Amino acid sequence: MPERTRRRILAIGAHPDDVEIGAGATLLAHRAAGDEVTVVILSSGARGGCAQIRAAEAQAAADRLGARLFLYDLPDTEISAGKATIELIESVVHAVRPDLVYTHSAQDTHQDHRAVHQAVLVAARSVATVACFQSPSTTMDFRPNRFVDVSAHIRGKLELLACFASQQAIRDYLAEDLVLATARYWSRHAGTPYAEPFEVVRERVDLVAPAQLHGIPRQQAMRAAA
Ligand SMILES: [Zn+2]
Repeated sequence: MPERTRRRILAIGAHPDDVEIGAGATLLAHRAAGDEVTVVILSSGARGGCAQIRAAEAQAAADRLGARLFLYDLPDTEISAGKATIELIESVVHAVRPDLVYTHSAQDTHQDHRAVHQAVLVAARSVATVACFQSPSTTMDFRPNRFVDVSAHIRGKLELLACFASQQAIRDYLAEDLVLATARYWSRHAGTPYAEPFEVVRERVDLVAPAQLHGIPRQQAMRAAA
């Protein structure tokens, strides 16, 4: 196998389970490729259930993913897009120095999700690639331009989501058939059995090692393209 640079991936969500719903299978693909994954949750989600239980569920999901977890306690449903949130995310960006950031889309009815999107665009301005995932509350204006083949990791995504038992009991959007049907739907744009969609708002590298997927080391591919 060709050499592949280990990349640092940072996934930022407003609440527990946001990142796993939007990009869980893609993050598993990153781990399988040897990338380091860090998950940031800005609010423990106290309005959607017991904060302690949700924190424990988030840690269980991060452990299953093999990711580092930063869990903060910004006020649920009142996260601002301003200085406090930006500085919090900047501190993580400084610590992790990510090559790629995943976060919420601007096209979302949930005010916390929109605020996190805006704050991330500022705080991660030095990061090469920023890609936005789909949430249960994204609107019809969510317009993905990148589709990641997650066929090998869709079952693993269901296992990640099963960590959020307190939410699975009350949230229809965590139903297995809906998760599978959503990834099947987006596969029509990917040509693979299952896909996760992303709006890439800035890109200086490719999302999941396309040079390696094609069996060509990146430098060799660059020479070939030159
Ligand atoms: Zn959320």
